[in-house]
Amino acid sequence: MINETMYARGAESSIIREIFSYGLERKAQIGADKVFDYSLGNPSVPAPAAVRASIERSLALPSDELHGYTPAPGLPEARRAVAESLNRRFGTSYGMGDVFMTVGAAASVSMCVHALANPGEEVIVIAPYFPEYAVWIEKAGAACVEVLADQTTFQIDPAAVAAAITPRTAAVIIDSPNNPTGAVYTRETLESLAAVLEEANAGREQPIFLISDEPYREIVYGAEVPWVPSIYEDTVVCYSYSKSLSLPGERVGWVLVPNTCPLAARVMPAVAGAARTLGFVCAPSLFQRVVADCVDEPSDVEAYARNRELLTSALSEYGYTYVEPDGAFYLWVKALEPDAGAFCERARAHELLAVPSDSFGVPGWFRLGYCIDREVIERSLPAWKLLAEEYRA
Ligand code: PLP
Repeated sequence: MINETMYARGAESSIIREIFSYGLERKAQIGADKVFDYSLGNPSVPAPAAVRASIERSLALPSDELHGYTPAPGLPEARRAVAESLNRRFGTSYGMGDVFMTVGAAASVSMCVHALANPGEEVIVIAPYFPEYAVWIEKAGAACVEVLADQTTFQIDPAAVAAAITPRTAAVIIDSPNNPTGAVYTRETLESLAAVLEEANAGREQPIFLISDEPYREIVYGAEVPWVPSIYEDTVVCYSYSKSLSLPGERVGWVLVPNTCPLAARVMPAVAGAARTLGFVCAPSLFQRVVADCVDEPSDVEAYARNRELLTSALSEYGYTYVEPDGAFYLWVKALEPDAGAFCERARAHELLAVPSDSFGVPGWFRLGYCIDREVIERSLPAWKLLAEEYRA
């Protein structure tokens, strides 16, 4: 029998993907230069030259090595390179055994949710949040508990998290630099969250785990991105090269179960079990080699910083209010009417494609991905201006 939950998930698809597909159709109809697609987090910045050089080197390998299965947790050289890079940057002493290579952050987070939550338990997310979290949590049989971020700073509200914790709380997912708000959680915020979790852990058989989803760690405009496992020891980290190296289609990332996590010896096998259960046989071997070679390649943050400046200064001139993003490449903007869906429909009439906030768990805002070509932003500005004037009229 067809699984109705799977049917519904496939039939509805994600609203972000739906808008993206609409954008492709519309571009075919009226010309690519007339559609301003801010829907997807698909980096327009090219992958570093070192990625191509690494691929070219790998192509010389014998076919069975180049195209063969890797061990389930990944190639030793990739896992070692990741651990050593983290050690250099955060003063840790991780080994390759702490790293499990994955098919991107989507796999990393869904594996961690399955590894750390049981059916009937609860996983807290900080709203607004990456919509797929709810899908993965539901698939694990757990309940997704939304806790609003502070609605001015978009930092985590530790008191609100404390109020949402129950004996069934298994984990909290955080995402900093944040998609969709661009907020970067401060050390103070993370320490307050850790204090809340530690207090809740007293008397519990197992701690509440923190799943730190960090695909945007490298994309920051000067803010500190604290290393979460050094603040809360029951943390697992999820990472991906989709954004930092502009490789979203190549599907490669990792889960780190730090050796400082007291339950690491049980958590890592559970992560491996989740990968097996979800059918992730191994991460792409060619791109595991790219990771081994390019682990410390810097991201071209400057390009995003320039787009951020262009878009924010224009939108504020036109009267929009938004959250000043400290990281990632999204702008979280207040819709000009209470119904964000209706606002985004109206924007669509100007060929502006934005994602309404309801899919991120809150009403009244919309998200713009400014990881697009600068020229697209420049060409779109008259349309943003016109749209604001329409609302004022
Ligand atoms: N987590 C967050 C917060 C994201 O924004 C994304 C992608 O946009 C993912 C996870 C999934 O990333 P990946 O492409 O590496 O699977």
